[in-house]
Amino acid sequence: MKPTDTVIPFSSESSRQKAEIDTGFDESSLDNVYFRQLFRSSPQAIVLLDNQDRVIDANRAFEDTFYYSVGEARGRSINSLIVPDELVAAAEQLSARTLAAKVVATETIRKRKDGSTCAVRILGYPIVSGDQQIGIFAIYDDISIRRRFERRLKLQGAAMDSAANAIFITDRDGRIEWTNRAFTRLSGYRESEAVGATPLLIDAKGSQPGLDPSEWRSLAGKGVWRGHVVSRHRDGHTYTVEQTVTPLQDHRSGIDHYVVVQEDISDRIEAEERLHHMARHDFLTDLPNRYTFNERLNVELDRASRSGRELAVFVLDLDHFKDVNDSFGHPVGDDLLVAVGRRLKRVLRDSSPLARLGGDEFGIVQVDLQDPENARGLAGRLLAAFDSPFVLRGQEVHVTPSIGIALYPPGLGDSKSLIKKADMAMYRAKQAGRATFRFYEEEMDHEVQTRMQLGQDLHAAITREELYLDYQPQIDLKRRDIIGVEALLRWQHPERGLVPPDRFIPLAEGSGLIIPIGRWVMETACAQAKIWQEQHGIALPVAVNLSSIQFRDPQFVESVERILKETGLAPELLELELTEGILMQASTRIERILQRLCEIGVRLSLDDFGKGYSSLEYLRRIPLQKLKIDRSFVQGIGNGSHDPVIVSVIVALAKKLGLELVAEGVETKKQLDFLEQEECDYLQGFYFSRPVDPTKIEQLLTRGTERISPVDIYKAL
Ligand code: C2E
Ligand code: CA
Ligand code: CA
Repeated sequence: MKPTDTVIPFSSESSRQKAEIDTGFDESSLDNVYFRQLFRSSPQAIVLLDNQDRVIDANRAFEDTFYYSVGEARGRSINSLIVPDELVAAAEQLSARTLAAKVVATETIRKRKDGSTCAVRILGYPIVSGDQQIGIFAIYDDISIRRRFERRLKLQGAAMDSAANAIFITDRDGRIEWTNRAFTRLSGYRESEAVGATPLLIDAKGSQPGLDPSEWRSLAGKGVWRGHVVSRHRDGHTYTVEQTVTPLQDHRSGIDHYVVVQEDISDRIEAEERLHHMARHDFLTDLPNRYTFNERLNVELDRASRSGRELAVFVLDLDHFKDVNDSFGHPVGDDLLVAVGRRLKRVLRDSSPLARLGGDEFGIVQVDLQDPENARGLAGRLLAAFDSPFVLRGQEVHVTPSIGIALYPPGLGDSKSLIKKADMAMYRAKQAGRATFRFYEEEMDHEVQTRMQLGQDLHAAITREELYLDYQPQIDLKRRDIIGVEALLRWQHPERGLVPPDRFIPLAEGSGLIIPIGRWVMETACAQAKIWQEQHGIALPVAVNLSSIQFRDPQFVESVERILKETGLAPELLELELTEGILMQASTRIERILQRLCEIGVRLSLDDFGKGYSSLEYLRRIPLQKLKIDRSFVQGIGNGSHDPVIVSVIVALAKKLGLELVAEGVETKKQLDFLEQEECDYLQGFYFSRPVDPTKIEQLLTRGTERISPVDIYKAL
């Protein structure tokens, strides 16, 4: 082979074969050193082939790429070494083209010694000596890595594009260069619209740090910016995102891109707000709840103590709300609470805090009191708001509130103690006959203690036999005779003495104790009536008072039947006194109970008539035998009030409905005369007899059948 004019790099190892393949290369020349260096240290695999495709020489990168040592490769056909079988034909063609004096470039697959394959880019140069092609100089560029990298980039791009979070990339000045699909979904802007703009495009508030690129520069040292940002959709609505801004650093030029990821958290924020609202508001009326009221009151107290102004805390509780629930049903009760909340709000008008403290209890704070009289004024307005009935589900419901007021600073104290004081004052208002208000006074603390103690003592009262019944006769005016008695419950407390029923029955109702106590009353009264009948031969009807709570006892009717059976008392000798609250029907359950009682043969009478709702509707529906005019009307007789007129009206009404009528609380001759004149037949009251023990009743009864005057009866006792 003749020396060529071609410059060919040789590895030093090839010197052994110099005799066989003489390329005429001058190793001592500078070029030789230079090219040998290049050949050896090239990161690309380089191989020198003769024109039969046999390896003459190869470099270190060749060894690294194809795993053959140069020694192994030398003299062997390159095709047998690194060309996959199916590509041998193509490889031979490639060699042929290269030998035909062309520089050939191609991307293809080659295999390694271990059988694995790699993608390569091959550059083939012909080696020409004179006019002869004597070999090929081939450079292999392993592009598997680049391919993998490209593929990964493509995958990452696709992932970013299909990510649920909105992503956009900006240049170093914050100009958007790329956006993903979620960005378009979230913001309403297509990528083409967003590119070139800054994120202020979607800023709802005007340069929030998260969206203002001029603020991002300060991130350089701090890394990632993370926070909530309110964005504006293309159509104007706003949404909140949790956003991260990540600066991408180029080690030479500093930050050159920002990647912004936005997660739409509007739903989460809304849910959080809802939860927050729910925790602080009453679900029924949507008024602030007790917790919020406390908090607000504390703020107001703070302000008041600094400004030296006074404030008043009101606790407002509906009267007989239980009866509304029992009579009209809970949905109406709920509606009532909502309607009351609205009315109260209207009265307060200003921003005075109003809350539902629980049940039928509302709290109000009146701030900046100039004068305690202002609190009195507000109390009056609150009461007046209940003058007209509430119309709920087509029914009229009358309720009144009892209001307690605690002033600050007189007693000072924190929010909780003020609410407690107002609460005590509210109980005072209840005791004073309801539908009124009371201011807190110091001695009420003691009162609450007593009430709690009493409630506890009551538990043991039945077993300790501290309860007993007195009986008050009912008189037939015309016949001057006793037509029946009302059983009235008494509690002989071991330390406190006689506790009046008005005091302990509400406690028994509150604790549910009224159910066993009520049963005991009925048993005792029935047994007593049976004794009078058997021992004295007199069938005297006995009336027993019922509490609305007793109607919640699912066994109520059964217990009445059982008591009648056990005592052997004829059902018509038992009269049950109901209050108007119970009768305001609406609840078909109560109506059914009353119907069943009527079927058993028990008599039903309506107590305290005229005092409650005064709806006459139910009088037709309920199987009543008797009305009892409330004591307050009778007491009005002779003192110039308009009550006598009401009594006349009730007498006429009872006659028309065919009901017996009893006037309660007759204390004077004057009242007696008026009632006689109005032809009210039956009377009950201190004028004839106070409630007395059974033996006194017996004395009365054994006087025989002769006619007796009311005064006689009175004297006889
Ligand atoms: P009530 O059912 O209206 O009973 C009549 C009340 O009026 C009785 O008071 C009686 O002593 C009183 N009274 C009778 N005549 C006169 C009079 O001429 N003048 C005045 N000023 N008062 C008179 P008492 O015994 O203190 O009972 C009060 C209330 O306690 C009763 O009112 C009734 O609602 C309730 N109560 C009493 N016993 C029971 C019971 O066994 N069960 C239930 N659930 N409630 C009862
Ligand atoms: Ca009664
Ligand atoms: Ca009564």
